[in-house]
Amino acid sequence: MRILIQKFGGTSVSTHERRTRVVNKILKARDKGFSPVVVVSAMGRKGQPYATDTLLSLISSDFKSSSPLGTDLLMSCGEVISAVVVSDELLKLGLEAVPLTGGQAGIITDDNYNDASVLKVEKDKLLSILENGKIPVVAGFQGVSESGYVTTLGRGGSDVTAALLGTALKSECVEIYTDVDGIMTADPRIVSDASLIEKISYNEVFQMADQGAKVIHPRAVRIAMNGNVPLVVKNTLNDGKGTVITNSTAESSGNVINGITSMDERVQITIKYSENENSENYYTLLDELANSLISIDLINVFPYEEVFTIDKGDMDNFKIVMKNLGIHYSAIKECTKIALIGSGMRGVPGVIAKILKVLFRENIKVLQTADSHTTIWCLVESSKADRAINALHREFLLGGK
Ligand code: ADP
Ligand code: ASP
Ligand code: MG
Repeated sequence: MRILIQKFGGTSVSTHERRTRVVNKILKARDKGFSPVVVVSAMGRKGQPYATDTLLSLISSDFKSSSPLGTDLLMSCGEVISAVVVSDELLKLGLEAVPLTGGQAGIITDDNYNDASVLKVEKDKLLSILENGKIPVVAGFQGVSESGYVTTLGRGGSDVTAALLGTALKSECVEIYTDVDGIMTADPRIVSDASLIEKISYNEVFQMADQGAKVIHPRAVRIAMNGNVPLVVKNTLNDGKGTVITNSTAESSGNVINGITSMDERVQITIKYSENENSENYYTLLDELANSLISIDLINVFPYEEVFTIDKGDMDNFKIVMKNLGIHYSAIKECTKIALIGSGMRGVPGVIAKILKVLFRENIKVLQTADSHTTIWCLVESSKADRAINALHREFLLGGK
């Protein structure tokens, strides 16, 4: 049996017209001799009736914090509705589909509600559905804990479901259908002439996803990489080839920079030793932040100064920790962390210099930088981020090829 996982995102299943295209993709896969396993997200985006954010708006923040179990149960409904509706579309064409919750599809997780980790995939039920010639349509983004409660896998987690099933069922590849042509050199909503990346390595795409490119979930990339299952990201609305993601770095473009992504809502924190001289806590601060589950990045520690960024959403907690420790700090709010990614930059001199020159020319202040073998990060004020990304995109010749 040649199994193919086909995952359709929220916008792909949002209207009857789009679901018709979804059904066509499934039919095409069958015609090519594949046994498709379909994974679906909740229909539509915020504001549309069954989208995850709309469901979340039905409950209070008190309920969300006091009942993560109940919140997961509510969030899981969007994907369940979608699985049934897509199965109905298949039935209209005479195809027998079996809609399944994540738990029914055998996805067993821990009980870390809202962001559960998968412990195992019990594949017998899916295999027997396939052997009977039927099409399983699995609700993405969810599983069931060993004690039987519904869990969710973190926002954007339907990609994770697809990668997990692809690995467990030894799918020939995992197709991720979405509303853009594939992985682009930048978010097309920010850079209008972003171009399609035809081939890219798991590592580079993981970096892009991890650094804010919402088009695929980083955990899905890691799972597919570990299982050595190729991922293909495609547009539901056309027949383009999309982006093929595999292990082969040789297949990457060879450019110094392959893609630019960004993460907004960062706050840059600066702590000066001179303002905290009497505080023993200056040196143990990072430990205290970790204990309070506040994650930090772009960390620069100097003898007389510590600089790092945190997520805007952690700011209230951060203030409490700092008050308790009696540490003074300054904060620049509304920052965006831009990441330029490319395995080709390893050992190439002058890349950071080129980036800084562009931003200087554009009169955009660089608040901080950091680099690794495959990524260079720049922190800028959010109000200038789109201009910075577009200028960098032009400078590295990533636009419409
Ligand atoms: P889905 O509902 O299909 O999972 P998402 O909204 O999660 O779709 O992801 C698709 C979106 O990702 C696109 O609409 C696009 O704006 C955004 N995106 C961000 N960065 C990139 C990128 N580098 N390439 C393609 N799309 C990107
Ligand atoms: N519906 C979920 C979300 O909006 C999962 C997904 O779309 O992948 O996060
Ligand atoms: Mg998504």
